[in-house]
Amino acid sequence: SVSVVLFTSDLRLHDHPPLHAALASTDEVLPLFVLDDAVEAAGFGAPNRRAFLADCLRDLDAGLRERGGRLVVREGDVVEEVGRIVAETGADAVHIAADVSAFAHRREERLREALTSTGCELRVHDAVVTAVAPGVVVPSGVGRDHFSVFTPYFRRWSGEGIRTPFQAPRAVRVPEGPGSAPLPSRSGVQGISPGLAEGGETEGRRLFTAWRSQGVSAYEDRHDDLAGDATSRLSPHIHFGTLSPAELVGRSRAVGGPGAEAFVRQLCWRDFHHQVLAARPAAARSDYRPRHDRWRTGRSASDDTAAWKEGRTGYPVVDAAMRQLLYEGWMHNRGRLLTASFLTKTLYVDWRTGARHFLDLLVDGDIANNQLNWQWVAGTGTDTRPNRVLNPVIQAKRYDPEGAYVRRWVPELAGISGSAVHEPWKLPKAERSRYDYPEPLVGLSEGLARFKKARELD
Ligand code: FAD
Repeated sequence: SVSVVLFTSDLRLHDHPPLHAALASTDEVLPLFVLDDAVEAAGFGAPNRRAFLADCLRDLDAGLRERGGRLVVREGDVVEEVGRIVAETGADAVHIAADVSAFAHRREERLREALTSTGCELRVHDAVVTAVAPGVVVPSGVGRDHFSVFTPYFRRWSGEGIRTPFQAPRAVRVPEGPGSAPLPSRSGVQGISPGLAEGGETEGRRLFTAWRSQGVSAYEDRHDDLAGDATSRLSPHIHFGTLSPAELVGRSRAVGGPGAEAFVRQLCWRDFHHQVLAARPAAARSDYRPRHDRWRTGRSASDDTAAWKEGRTGYPVVDAAMRQLLYEGWMHNRGRLLTASFLTKTLYVDWRTGARHFLDLLVDGDIANNQLNWQWVAGTGTDTRPNRVLNPVIQAKRYDPEGAYVRRWVPELAGISGSAVHEPWKLPKAERSRYDYPEPLVGLSEGLARFKKARELD
């Protein structure tokens, strides 16, 4: 007998519940990945993620080959391709990880429908993409299906038992018949950020091993240090599932100490946003808490947005972070917070515009994490202080006190030493004119006044 394992956002062999269940129940397993046209059509096939995905698929195939198997890749509509594979192999079960996006829900429904008439069972596995499945930790009270505040969620989540990770299988027997499309390759993708990280489970596990021994213990003290770059950078691996969130939580807790605890708390933020999106799928597009904003539109707003995207707002720390995004397809969390606050609250441009730009570039671009973090910053989401505005100069002085992050990403200001680099407009005129760098798009007090008026805060 044969079962199919449909890989989606879980491109690994370690701690893979669907693969484990399939191997336990049938002699042969067909590991399948479908490059779905619909993902592309929905604007979700951004080059950075396509390139990282190609690395992940190649590594997954290599890992399966070491175990006597291989990965079958198909192109087209995921449901049609699964149907074909089931017909070709006579499989009696399809295993897949549960996921939260509207796309994933539709995929699951359509698969169930398509398989009903074939006698092949669909088995959906929880807690593969998240450490704790959405809906497991819920507030008490009738009709309450998710937590909208992080801290009580974190408290309950922390008490949940995390399952022991499954070992990677020793051998995988794959039926001979079904052919595979060629594996995609990074070199076939145009428009990748030059400093894009490498994908694949092997690389993810290498990074996590180094992180546990060298990085995590200093995480609590250093995670906000922009220049120090002392976060794990595991987000693209977690997004593509080359690392298992449950395994990360368990093995980080085993390290112990405040750094590991703070890191686990961040992993919980990811589960938190997933359970919000699972319960409120519309939050991917519309305000979670409607604020009736009349976001700026028209020529001046689009000019401001263009300057923000290119990293020429005239606020060095904002521009540094936006240029890091362009160059690496990744941005430090503190940079994400302050650039998102700048767009939505200082420029007063719709959070959806910024979220779209991030999704076009971020290698970890994720519908739950991206949209809900944008909403959190814009004050339309789950932040309990929705009208706070981050002042980019204060943020810069606090999180890049020496100005090293700005000088790294905004080289035209590299001649200004120390924290003076954060406020080039304060330099004596003669010195200021030496730097080919724009004046601020808008004064901070002007931006703040506009925001307060729009939100009727005065
Ligand atoms: P670390 O600090 O090492 O944290 C470890 C892991 O915890 C991360 O890899 C991530 O999986 C999770 N995590 C950390 N912070 C958050 C958070 N605030 N929300 C959810 N999960 C978190 N993260 C994404 O994975 N994809 C996105 O598309 C995304 N978009 C964002 C947009 C905005 C406007 C903001 C403010 C944040 C966004 N984040 C997103 C969250 C966070 O910035 C990144 O997860 C983090 O910067 C990734 O770097 P790291 O792996 O070094 O993180």
